[in-house]
Amino acid sequence: MKSLADFLPLLEQPRRISISHHNNPDADATGSALALYHYLTMKGHTCVVFSPNEVPDYLDWMPGRENVMVFEEDTATSAARLNESEIHFSLDYNNYSRTKSMEQVLRDYKGITVLIDHHMFPDTCFEYGISLTSKSSTCEMIYDFIALAGDASMINMAIAECIYSGIMTDTGSFRFPGTTPNTHRIVASLLEVGLEPSRIHTALFDNYSENRLRFMGWLFAEKMQVFPEFHTAVIAVSEEELKRFNISTGDTEGIVNFPLSIKPVIFSIFITQRNQEFRMSFRSQGDFNVNEFARTWFEGGGHRNASGGRGAESIEATVNRLMEAVKMNENQLNICFRNM
Ligand code: 5GP
Ligand code: MN
Repeated sequence: MKSLADFLPLLEQPRRISISHHNNPDADATGSALALYHYLTMKGHTCVVFSPNEVPDYLDWMPGRENVMVFEEDTATSAARLNESEIHFSLDYNNYSRTKSMEQVLRDYKGITVLIDHHMFPDTCFEYGISLTSKSSTCEMIYDFIALAGDASMINMAIAECIYSGIMTDTGSFRFPGTTPNTHRIVASLLEVGLEPSRIHTALFDNYSENRLRFMGWLFAEKMQVFPEFHTAVIAVSEEELKRFNISTGDTEGIVNFPLSIKPVIFSIFITQRNQEFRMSFRSQGDFNVNEFARTWFEGGGHRNASGGRGAESIEATVNRLMEAVKMNENQLNICFRNM
């Protein structure tokens, strides 16, 4: 993969550019795509952002959100727009399989491909780009990209709000180990543009329904299983249960983190069923590598302390397989807990 410095000269003339992020976008995916969209548009390029599936409601406020095309909602038109573009940016994922509805069209894409991402094990299919697991977020890397182009002074409020959202959420509000001096320096420069952190925190975290909090109360009271001997907590929710509380995709964001607040727990698993698919979220503290765990057992991946994957054919089968995997990791979990 050639570097972004080698890529930059290609932006010296106006280009048709498309941008995509992973399926089920979070604030880092949508934030990085929209920040790049705003920057490239200001530079005179024609841009389009594709989300493989719907963008969750809690991101509706993001500047530029109305310009995002949902690929699976109109595959033919979206694919035509994508194929018209000369350059495609892949953000916050590093393997086309993570774009689901876009996967085949991206594999067949003939334009120039650019990767900006911070997940482990990038595919080798990208022509240009950067893949750094040491970065807190893709949004931080978008800031670095704009700075590399010598355009940090072009960062306005819209770009600042998008970038801040991804950095803040992917660092767990600046507490995860990927938070570096550079992360804080970038945020400081965003504040200098006029960004108000409290507005973004409110927009992202204080905009949920009453139902969601009641659902969470019920989850932690009734559904969470804690296994102190494995330093592990598991929550599994069926489609019927999600429907009963009127829970949409965005409503479950972040719930997996809460069990880590229990002292002996360093590994948290959250399983949700949607359309006969069992989505798994993994979070850990310290050295326990959930990327390896997700890859080995659940066809997934991600980061060392935050990964995802998919389960088996039912909730019961998924939890059974999970507990088998957890037992196999008992020694490792105990070692990692002692090292905390
Ligand atoms: P989440 O639990 O928030 O859905 O995902 C946690 C992290 O793991 C995110 O960075 C996400 O991009 C990544 N991730 C989630 N599912 C998968 C997967 O199936 N494969 C890979 N490689 N990464 C995933
Ligand atoms: Mn990310």
